[in-house]
Amino acid sequence: MVLRGRVLPSENQKEGMVMVRPAISRTMKACAVACSVALGISVLGACSGNSKPTTTKDGKPIVRISMRRNTTAVKLSSMGWTKKLEAACDCSIEWTEITDNAWGQQKSAKMAAGDFPDIGMSMYDRNDISKYSSQFEDIAPHLKKMPNVQKFFTARPVAQKMVEDEGKIQILPSDRGKGYRVSATHMFINKAWLDKLGLSMPTTWDELENVLKAFKTQDPNGNGKADEVPMNIRGLNFGLWSALTLMNSTGVTTAFMGASAESQGYYVQDGKVKSYLTSDALKDTIKFLNKLQSEGLIPKDSLTRDGSKYAAQTTSDGKTAITGFSFGWSRQNEYGTLADQYASVPVLKQTAGQSDSQVKWDYSQDYTELANALTVSKKAPNKDAIWKIINAMYDPEISIQQYYGDLDKYVAKSDNNTYTISDKVYEKYVDTREIAAQDRFAGWIPDDYTILNDTNADAVSADNEAVQPALNNVNEKTDVVSIYAAPSAKDLDTLSTNNTSIFNYTDNMLATWFQKGGIDKQWDEYVKQVNNKSLGLDQNISIWQKAYDVAEK
Ligand code: MG
Repeated sequence: MVLRGRVLPSENQKEGMVMVRPAISRTMKACAVACSVALGISVLGACSGNSKPTTTKDGKPIVRISMRRNTTAVKLSSMGWTKKLEAACDCSIEWTEITDNAWGQQKSAKMAAGDFPDIGMSMYDRNDISKYSSQFEDIAPHLKKMPNVQKFFTARPVAQKMVEDEGKIQILPSDRGKGYRVSATHMFINKAWLDKLGLSMPTTWDELENVLKAFKTQDPNGNGKADEVPMNIRGLNFGLWSALTLMNSTGVTTAFMGASAESQGYYVQDGKVKSYLTSDALKDTIKFLNKLQSEGLIPKDSLTRDGSKYAAQTTSDGKTAITGFSFGWSRQNEYGTLADQYASVPVLKQTAGQSDSQVKWDYSQDYTELANALTVSKKAPNKDAIWKIINAMYDPEISIQQYYGDLDKYVAKSDNNTYTISDKVYEKYVDTREIAAQDRFAGWIPDDYTILNDTNADAVSADNEAVQPALNNVNEKTDVVSIYAAPSAKDLDTLSTNNTSIFNYTDNMLATWFQKGGIDKQWDEYVKQVNNKSLGLDQNISIWQKAYDVAEK
């Protein structure tokens, strides 16, 4: 799956989508064995790094914070907001920064060796916490020492529910604010081409097909060549920016981001969990996509070619557009300098006879806004200093600086809790990931705070307007498995094992139907196969049903 782009949804959330299981290095393994054998005597201290000094020479507590980052060119310790954290705790903070790739390679081994930082930022997910529960401090009993976190939970109960497990809280969420309360997926069409050919914005699948045919045959980019790709898709998965979001046209709801049930192929309708894999929604969507493919409107090799080819056809050469229609995060991210030619497309109806209230859209907004952010090691010394640091982090103004950069340098404050990101940021950097923690932050940007000139949020929020009416049709109780529906560690293992067997069979079938057709003839037999007890689909449905029922009760 291709996920790279100039500006993305929270990288932090996408972490959960990829299982990185590197081999444990020899030293780490030896250390883990020594630790488990020594059972808590001095060797354990040596392995887990607890033999390091816990105070400075002048007696100040030392707190060690590790953060996974996009880029480590500008050090966290050089940022003004980290000095504010030190002032708040009257302690000394030692920062360790680690890039995504490096952390992907080291994570398993470090966890197996019991090596956890005092505070971890964007290092761990729900699975890690289930697996190594004894390593993570329960933060819930200490919340009264962190009034800013308490205020956050009062304002955003969904964030608290997301991390609470039978009263325990072993990870704190971050909330990057209303600018990111959007779907992660949008549809884009070349509006300049529509205008040039005198066509209207399509509103149904049939109208889309007719528009794509015109794109193919009428040289809308005007270069005299039949080089137009009417529609581009990344693949047929239940993930970010998938063409399978077209299923929303049929009345089911997707939420293709992070570790959602929907991303595993499960959805809920009227409170009952089902599988997309055996649904008419999927059958109709694949059939439609195959029809477009067979008419030369979608590249035949869409499922097998590498990601660079996709980008070459969307961003093109930056001058002449080639692609007519696609799915992505924002026009800016998808089409670069050609973005102005494109418009975000309101959700299409499957058939003209449907009412407006029957269509839904990808309800991934909680995953784009919220992330699993901060953990505390159970064996960390200086807990009081740690609670002071965390309370300072969740102060709204420090949260803004964690995300966007230092006040008066990269961010200007004006009246009414309004903050403006300086153009200087974009002149020099891709965005604020280089001069701040950005989406790896641990903080809360409340709804009554306004951020101006966050170009990523501005672009995606503008593109979200087209799908907002369809999002309004989604009942978040009965149409979506909520972000806080949490299967147990054991159930997560079962889900994963069964899904491997299931997708092993279904991925091939879906790909064949997209490329060669035949879905009508083979569907009944396919459904029988998918429902075969040995694949575990019924078991997975009941696991998600249980998690859904607990979450919604
Ligand atoms: Mg042309």
